Amino acid sequence: MPLCPMRQMLDEARKAGYGVGAYNVNNMEQIQAIAQAARETASPVIIQASKGALEYTNLVYLKHLMAAAVEENADLPICLHLDHGPNLELCKEAIGIGFTSVMIDGSIDYDKKTPEGKHPARSFEDNLRATKEVADYAHARGVSVEGELGTLGGIEEETHADKVLLTDPAQVEEFVRRTGVDALALAIGTSHGAYKFKHEPVLAMDLISQCRERAPECAFVMHGSSSVPKELVDEVNKYGGRMPNAMGVPIASIQEAIRRGIQKINVDTDGRMAVTAAIRKVFIEKPGEFDPRKYLGPAREALTKLIASKMRDFGTAGHAGDYKRKTLDEMKKFYGKK
Ligand SMILES: [Zn+2]
Repeated sequence: MPLCPMRQMLDEARKAGYGVGAYNVNNMEQIQAIAQAARETASPVIIQASKGALEYTNLVYLKHLMAAAVEENADLPICLHLDHGPNLELCKEAIGIGFTSVMIDGSIDYDKKTPEGKHPARSFEDNLRATKEVADYAHARGVSVEGELGTLGGIEEETHADKVLLTDPAQVEEFVRRTGVDALALAIGTSHGAYKFKHEPVLAMDLISQCRERAPECAFVMHGSSSVPKELVDEVNKYGGRMPNAMGVPIASIQEAIRRGIQKINVDTDGRMAVTAAIRKVFIEKPGEFDPRKYLGPAREALTKLIASKMRDFGTAGHAGDYKRKTLDEMKKFYGKK
């Protein structure tokens, strides 16, 4: 699969001052919607799969669905990324099936015994060791690496630490230098899921600027960046859903974060909601409908629209043709020289 290395994609975004959305996938319709939105808006795009997605799709299906998206859109820069890799083992597996980027979430200890939501935060040194191990393995193969400093809150599958710790800017320079990561997820007060805030969203924007000064060439990542737009919540609830008081990160805040130095913006919840709202609508309006194409089709269309609007909002639109995609061999040489 001629995929684009994430390092190159985010370097280009940093230089030009825009953000690239990273959208989670589990099935064909989602992959098609993301690729279609990228095509319509001429955007580079990161398609990402979590550990849960790899389990759901049985890996090999995801690999071939992705290959189809790449084959159909050979001229678009597309990166395939592992979201919240818990350990070296899964990162190796993802790289083995062709991912051009992996995240190693060394910030919390994903031991198998701890119930979800209770995973303890790791020490700085333990995080650093786990991250460097993955970076060394990945870079030897030309693959990009994202790490995480601080912990995110939230209800998303297995990304749930026992407490939220904001990133300490004083640790960023050392972490980036010693691990060699290409991208770093900053904990600035966002969380996963549809219920990010009880009142007004409060994000530590200054923290992004402080980190940017300390690691000028590292890409920064904002997790839990769904906006949970009111129209979408209303749509879900109108057709029999129950999502009271859902709240996300306003687009204006994401745009400010991009201005201050964020390049990768992770979006999952909004896509899930767009799909759910579209399917609910069909089920309520046409209770006699039983052809999956008649509800998965509208879901795919709704998701395409949502993602295309994000590509415009994040400033990604129009940048697909800015650069020539680097090969993993070229990236290997790049890391070898560093
Ligand atoms: Zn995340």
